[in-house]
Amino acid sequence: MSDAHGGRNTGFVGFGGAMIWQRRMVLCIGVLVFTAGCGSNTTKTPELAAESEMDDRQYLLERIDDVSIAQIYADGFSALPLRQKVLVWHLYNAALAGRDIYYDQRYAHGLEMREVLEEILTHSNRLGAETRDAIHRYTKLFWLNTGPFNNLTARKYVLDIDPAAFQVAAHAAAEDGAIFPLKEGESLDDLLTRLEPMFFDESFDPIVTNKTPVDGSDMLLSSSNNLYDGVSMEDVASFDEQYPLNSRLVKREGILQEEVYRINEDGRYANQLREVVRHLEAAVPFATPEMAAALNALVQWYRSGEPTDRRAYDIAWVADQSSPVDTINGFTEVYMDARGAKGAWEALVYYVNQEKTAAIQTLADNAQWFEDHMPWDPRYRKEGVLGITANAIDVVVEIGDAGPITPIGINLPNDQSVRESYGSKSVSLSNVTEAYERSRPDAYRNEFAWDDDEAARSAEWGSFAGELTTNMHEVIGHASGQLSDSLQGNPQAFLKEQYSALEEARADLVALYFIADPKLVEIGIVDAEHHEDIIGAEYESYTRNAILQLRRVREGAQIEQDHMRNRQMVVHWLMDNTDAIEQRSREGKTYYVMVDRNAFRDGVGTLLAEVQRIKSEGDYDAAYTLFESYGIHFDPTLRDEVVQRVSQVNVPSYTGFVMPKLEPVVDSSGEIVDVIITYPQDFTQQMLEYSGKR
Ligand SMILES: [Zn+2]
Repeated sequence: MSDAHGGRNTGFVGFGGAMIWQRRMVLCIGVLVFTAGCGSNTTKTPELAAESEMDDRQYLLERIDDVSIAQIYADGFSALPLRQKVLVWHLYNAALAGRDIYYDQRYAHGLEMREVLEEILTHSNRLGAETRDAIHRYTKLFWLNTGPFNNLTARKYVLDIDPAAFQVAAHAAAEDGAIFPLKEGESLDDLLTRLEPMFFDESFDPIVTNKTPVDGSDMLLSSSNNLYDGVSMEDVASFDEQYPLNSRLVKREGILQEEVYRINEDGRYANQLREVVRHLEAAVPFATPEMAAALNALVQWYRSGEPTDRRAYDIAWVADQSSPVDTINGFTEVYMDARGAKGAWEALVYYVNQEKTAAIQTLADNAQWFEDHMPWDPRYRKEGVLGITANAIDVVVEIGDAGPITPIGINLPNDQSVRESYGSKSVSLSNVTEAYERSRPDAYRNEFAWDDDEAARSAEWGSFAGELTTNMHEVIGHASGQLSDSLQGNPQAFLKEQYSALEEARADLVALYFIADPKLVEIGIVDAEHHEDIIGAEYESYTRNAILQLRRVREGAQIEQDHMRNRQMVVHWLMDNTDAIEQRSREGKTYYVMVDRNAFRDGVGTLLAEVQRIKSEGDYDAAYTLFESYGIHFDPTLRDEVVQRVSQVNVPSYTGFVMPKLEPVVDSSGEIVDVIITYPQDFTQQMLEYSGKR
């Protein structure tokens, strides 16, 4: 499972809902999903903030309509021991070697279309600027989304020029030396005619994954991905599928066949997988014994394609809990398949961010201290509480289903039987969320801050405070508290539809309460001199979010999503019951202004005690009243104002990333003596390089 981005500081509220930019399933289950799980996920260490050189570097590279492109940085890479750098280098090549698989899975014509576009772009001397720009713009979207379908809406988007102008451009490129992917006996005009509906017709193959066809059509036949060819749900129902995760199902002369993704004569993607395996095998000697076992198991699965080998790989991968470098490489997430069976190929290579992982571990190690100091009735305090841990990681490269558009949190493997018997691994992608946070327009932050001080605090400490709060929410929030002796059974059964929002509120309140505790300084998670700013930044951001998040509910005057209800409830309860927050207006704009940190924290403690009581006692009526009063209903006039202000500051719908680039330094004997990391800051250049055009 993987989680889409949900930076709370800007009003994203985790997952579920219109602003989710990924097609991936998103969830907050507290236990399995780490930082990404329940809200914001941002990263900025005090050290980083102190280094102006890093502060000034470029995160946001360009905007295409409502899309941002940002650079990912992996600062820790250079400090890795050589052996780990070389390991990453081979895994990076294994990732790049599989890139075309996902293009093909996502659309049968995807690779051909990409080739046409890239050949025109790299032979564009004779093209008029207008035509070239239109093609370039479309190609960027094509690279970002790995084909002609928008990753948010699953809908097709088309090339916005005249087909005739495209034809002229292709011929001009051909005269400049472009080589097009012609089939046997095909002319360039034949090729362009054949691909015309793919490039220009919105109604041809209109949707990549159609899970809920409105017109009663078949969800596989009406999905335009290449996981099936001519196969309906009815066909599948009576078919004995041997390779549900790693095959394409095709219907030939009325007979279903599985084209298995594996390395043998008739294996689909055999050529790409052979290259992937070559690099994986080169990586093995540099891996820890646990990781080497996992890599060998992966190679075996790519060779045989057998589900038993996939399971062996999952088990070996989960068993490796401590290697400083790791990779995810395989047919993994099933969100692209309307049936939820076929795995999309992806690869990520990353190393553990030791400093951030240590901070998470420190919180977990002190879980009992926090429990003993919870501001609720001692009867609801738990003995022997264990914090929840996960690794904070920095990615070096993400390919296929994982890039250029990436998740921010991942929990694998997906095989439930492996999870139950062997556990799982959770990672939170620190440098990805950092890039998200730092690539956001300042105007967005500033628009809702009352004054320059608040905006400056947010710019400097918002990310750090947000990440810390999210960590506490997950590590000590959800894990805390116990039920009343008199409550028989699961509180979920008593609290019903109020349960999730209440539980999210509880975890948020734990974080908001303890972020202001000197204990954080004592255990070394925050610096004493910055603690006040961090508290202020977090309380202000949490407060602002209550109006900001209204932009996501464009219809009606009621909030449905649990995380949003929770955050509305907390802020409006504080507004009604404390002097911590004032509603102000200036020039027709509304602001929620956090004016008193102590009152905020005291209020949070009081509310947290009540929320815990409600959970521990299963008090449905109290939960109902709390959310009815503060969490569900809002003023649509305020929402309309927020929507308008947000659109003026041009918030991106989604973000794609330029990955770091690695290059080996080789001595005269051919030995790799170092691996250099650089940051290309040029999306087009990187995509062309990946395609072998530069
Ligand atoms: Zn949560």
